[in-house]
Amino acid sequence: MRIVNLLAEVNEDECSGCGTCEKVCPTLAIHLQRFDKAVRSKPLAVIDKVKCVGCWACEQRCPSHALHMVRHPSPHSIGISIEDVPWQEIADLCRKARLNPEQIICYCTTTRAEEVAAAILKGYHTPEELSQYVGVRTGCKVECTQPILRLLEAAGLPFKPTLEHGWQLYGRTITAWEVPEHVKAKYASRGFYFDQDIELLNRVVAAGKK
Ligand code: SF4
Ligand code: SF4
Repeated sequence: MRIVNLLAEVNEDECSGCGTCEKVCPTLAIHLQRFDKAVRSKPLAVIDKVKCVGCWACEQRCPSHALHMVRHPSPHSIGISIEDVPWQEIADLCRKARLNPEQIICYCTTTRAEEVAAAILKGYHTPEELSQYVGVRTGCKVECTQPILRLLEAAGLPFKPTLEHGWQLYGRTITAWEVPEHVKAKYASRGFYFDQDIELLNRVVAAGKK
């Protein structure tokens, strides 16, 4: 869950139209508007106030300091209930992604794997939709990204970059379960215990209610 009590606002005089904010916004709430040269010589960042969840990412990265956060006129929370999705479907999807349903996958918003799985089963099928409607991936955006991509992939929704510029997300990285045997063998004598790690991780994934 995320409390939305801030909104991003653009200082039009300061915006250089560089597009950095458009690329880092987790909910795709920003787009660059282009004008006739006689009106404005450079593009301008425009915020969709409905999509903005007040995460600060744009403000922190704007090289011109043209963005700042203001109080949201109607503070609210975003999140998803897991109650109206069959538990077994949620559990099956989480375990297919090798996640325990109850484990927190986004520490910034304390979102659990089961909440993201329920949202995917309800029809939210991109990282950006999950950020907007569940609140996940609206803090650091580091720890949660891979579990989100694993859950989407487990649901048959492999990662596709949303922006054509494509540097918002880089795709899914390898997990312990996918390390090739020859790599395991190569590092076995150097203090790496891949199979033991996998055994431990499997116990974590399987723990708790079914
Ligand atoms: S990052 Fe800043 S300067 Fe660049 S487009 Fe966005 S608001 Fe404008
Ligand atoms: S505050 Fe976050 S959600 Fe809002 S426009 Fe900026 S990057 Fe997007």
